[in-house]
Amino acid sequence: MTGAVPDPLPDWLSGARRVTVLTGAGISTDSGIPDYRGPNGVWTRDPDAEKLVTLSYYLADPEIRRKAWRVRADVRAADVAPNAGHRALVDLERQGRLRALLTQNVDGLHQAAGSSPEHVLELHGTVHAVECLSCGDRTSMDDALARIDAGDPDPACLVCGGILKSATVSFGQALDERVLDAAAQAAADCDVLLAVGTSLVVYPVAGLVEVAAAHGARVVIVNAEPTPFDGLADLVVREPISTALPRLVGAG
Ligand SMILES: [Zn+2]
Repeated sequence: MTGAVPDPLPDWLSGARRVTVLTGAGISTDSGIPDYRGPNGVWTRDPDAEKLVTLSYYLADPEIRRKAWRVRADVRAADVAPNAGHRALVDLERQGRLRALLTQNVDGLHQAAGSSPEHVLELHGTVHAVECLSCGDRTSMDDALARIDAGDPDPACLVCGGILKSATVSFGQALDERVLDAAAQAAADCDVLLAVGTSLVVYPVAGLVEVAAAHGARVVIVNAEPTPFDGLADLVVREPISTALPRLVGAG
């Protein structure tokens, strides 16, 4: 079934007790955070922007690092707040039906909306922390941006002098195995996998849909564009996320 949110919802959805949610960029575009891969995405319009999140360029080119920090500072300055889509998933948790909230987003908006940090697995890391690429020392993004504001365009690690980077997974960097394992467990242990605003083209995260389906879960996909898993899904919704999600979780 493809199109609008069905009314009434099918029993397998309204009655699901363990819902694992997987979110991607599409849930945050209504909060003013650009989608990178969509038709109007940043990388689609400016292929050079991809260098900012590719480890080899970041390591090799100080100008790329300075630009990456400037982008972080700009995003901080922007008015970014959770939207109705994020809040619907908080409602799902309050109903006691959220098994886990897996996100490809690094914006921290699920926690900002009120989702419990212990339920959120950030598969691609977070922009709210900074990590040294040499010694692994972890500090806050606020501290790093304070150094940018003070005039250091490419701040070095205060412990070892190494290169600092937001604690996000860049191209060329591996995902955190523990986070990925916990995500795979949550995908294998749910009644419904709800994939929201993700194009499901990036592995291993896209494979979580297959894990869920292989373990007997129903699959719901909410995305503006077709995904490679639409044929496997029990329900595909094309409506805007911030209006579809509250109804899908029975919160509106
Ligand atoms: Zn260091």
